[in-house]
Amino acid sequence: MSIIAPAETATETSHFIDGCWTARGGPTFAVRNPLDDSLVAEAAAGGRADAEAAVAAAAAAFPAWAAMPPGERQRLFLKAADIVDAREDEIVRLMAREGGSSRAFAAFQIRLSAAMLRQAAGWGYLPAGDVLRSDVAGRTATVTRKPLGVVAGFTPWNGAFYLAWRTFLLPMAFGNTTVIKPSEEAPLSAGLIHAEILEQAGFPAGSFNVVTHAPGAAAEIADVFFASPAVRCIDFTGSDRTARILGERAGRALKRMVLELGGFNPVLVLDEADIEEAVKAVTFGAFLHQGQVCMNSRKVYIARDRHDEFVAGLRARVEALKVGDPTDPEVIIGPLINDRAVAQIDERVRDAVDRGATLVTGGTHEGRLYRPTILTHVPPEAICTTGCDETFGPLLVIEAFDDVETAIADAQSTPYGLSAAIMTGDRGRGLDIAERFDAGIVHVNAPTMASEAALPVGGVKDSGWGRSGHYAIEDFTEVRLTTVSRDPGRYPF
Ligand code: NAD
Repeated sequence: MSIIAPAETATETSHFIDGCWTARGGPTFAVRNPLDDSLVAEAAAGGRADAEAAVAAAAAAFPAWAAMPPGERQRLFLKAADIVDAREDEIVRLMAREGGSSRAFAAFQIRLSAAMLRQAAGWGYLPAGDVLRSDVAGRTATVTRKPLGVVAGFTPWNGAFYLAWRTFLLPMAFGNTTVIKPSEEAPLSAGLIHAEILEQAGFPAGSFNVVTHAPGAAAEIADVFFASPAVRCIDFTGSDRTARILGERAGRALKRMVLELGGFNPVLVLDEADIEEAVKAVTFGAFLHQGQVCMNSRKVYIARDRHDEFVAGLRARVEALKVGDPTDPEVIIGPLINDRAVAQIDERVRDAVDRGATLVTGGTHEGRLYRPTILTHVPPEAICTTGCDETFGPLLVIEAFDDVETAIADAQSTPYGLSAAIMTGDRGRGLDIAERFDAGIVHVNAPTMASEAALPVGGVKDSGWGRSGHYAIEDFTEVRLTTVSRDPGRYPF
């Protein structure tokens, strides 16, 4: 089965449960191209019974997957990486049609995904534990890392292809089996295409399962995850708003959660920075995937005496970005995911302008194609600059500063702490400032979006917790203490 239909016609998709494509002929929902609402697929509209079957399959597959020797798992991951490379063109087309991804963004995700698969292929060989000293003579204590069991993942629509791998690959690399619930906005590129690839690579039945659902049915699937004793961890990527709902439920169910949430992602451009470099880094960091990535830059703080030069350079570069149908390889800015996203950015741009902000460029849209937008002189009370709620679209606020300490304090005054960037001609100064940032990721002389497969990505504060790369061993394993005693015990009673 291929979910990428010939001649790009609409296809009908199923769940992937216990190594089988199931539910054809059952209820479906329409997945539409955000550019023109054309039908991409009729996807299976799953519910409780599908989620229960998927969890049961993952639980049954767990013992064998957890016990699989690292070399065997490694072969599977490496094969999957080769398939990702080989299917690049199809995946690029799918992401354009389903999610509005430009070729540049899709290719970026595909490269990262293949790299992460190749990294993860080796993680089975990481040290499995420690031998500890005991205060009891003749006792040996060993600590072993064990997989948790079934990990249930919520995969997002925005960086769908790469972020879905990140959601299930990390737990699987450490011996867990998984059930994925892709976002209803992009079920194909946030889960089903992965099932095809893993099936093609020969992953055992039940090790990886996908259940898709119609809009409004997410909570029903989540109910199954929270109710099932086999599900030991919920791996969620999405908004802090939904994370709070799920977090309360996880508390009641006493389930571990990994949370990859949003960010406000400031960039500090210091007075000695190379402005041309800063312009390039900010254009990429703010407008990749039309600002719909958790690590997109939302606000730039620029030394006042470099402000005009920076804004002029940025405006010229941003206005040259081609906006349109993302199947055109020249297009950088494709459509926003839905009408809600267009309404959100539009309202916030208008709110800022009404309060006296200067619109440098953008601020208009044709359908869901929103032109990249830059605002300066934004009053602090404007919604888009308070940093309390990320604007998930192509909107960048620029603020001039006189005192770098005030700018650093302001940049950190948001509830988020995902990524930050500092552009400077003085790496020592950049590092000093970086050390003071309360964020999961700080880049000196690189965009806020400088992801690499092997590096730990994750946030602090309302941006969540959990880290990618091999650091995910902390999230997806637990520590087992085993002791063995040589001598008879001595007891107080
Ligand atoms: P969202 O929170 O609306 O939805 C995320 C997921 O939660 C979807 O799968 C949805 O079906 C599910 N969901 C929604 N309501 C639910 C409920 N009541 N019960 C159970 N499940 C529910 O987020 P979104 O708009 O799809 O994604 C955008 C957000 O994700 C942004 O905030 C972005 O910053 C964040 N994000 C973070 C990262 C990261 O790595 N830190 C990556 C991508 C996106």
